[in-house]
Amino acid sequence: MIKENILKAEQRIRAACSRAGRDFSAVTIVAVSKGRPPEEISAALAAGITDIGENRVQEAALKYKKLITYNSELITIKWHMVGHLQTNKVKDAVKIFDLIHSLDSVRLAEEIDKQAARLNKIQDVLMEVKTSPEAAKSGIKPDQAARVIKEISGLKNIRMRGLMTIAPAVSNPEDARPYFRMLREAKDRINNLRLMTYDLQLLSMGMSDDFAVAVEEGATMVRLGRAIFGG
Ligand SMILES: *Cc1c(COP(=O)(O)O)cnc(C)c1O
Repeated sequence: MIKENILKAEQRIRAACSRAGRDFSAVTIVAVSKGRPPEEISAALAAGITDIGENRVQEAALKYKKLITYNSELITIKWHMVGHLQTNKVKDAVKIFDLIHSLDSVRLAEEIDKQAARLNKIQDVLMEVKTSPEAAKSGIKPDQAARVIKEISGLKNIRMRGLMTIAPAVSNPEDARPYFRMLREAKDRINNLRLMTYDLQLLSMGMSDDFAVAVEEGATMVRLGRAIFGG
């Protein structure tokens, strides 16, 4: 079931890429496994998934421990924090996650920087951008994104890799397109400002109901829960 779901999702991503003239290899599926047992994650890994997303640090830590043996075999799991991150959870989060998708304040950035420095780690992060007033409670407003990036650009143990958004739940996926487009345009605008010595590359956008549209609009990471694990 999980394997079939992954194949189906890959086919839809391939089709969206060809509609948009994009390369399939430029899109990573992050399998969002919140609320799912390690056995289901193992099934996803066996079907070729390499990137796992969780939205709670404690839950992720338990699964991380259980699945660590995978890392000594053929693949290295990449762990993604896709949910809102509280400052008091940062210390544990930086031990686990390869990419934190939900950087939504300067204060959180400073804490991530501090805790990452203690581990001698450079923590990759995405800035969560609030592209719609109703969708998410957290996130930086698009017109504030450049200012925040500038403010945290001096933090040595954080590397800002791109932007993330959660589109509002809509009945027609087409209606999510403007929010994805807004995120891509925000990335282009920030890159044109040359606030950093490198360009933002990653766009984390699209979930089970709307990922094909997100890929058409340039998503480099889609976060799929139900499309992979069912429900
Ligand atoms: C749960 C979750 C997802 C996956 O949602 P589905 O609709 O099940 O694909 C993606 N992103 C975030 C931030 C989530 O919390």
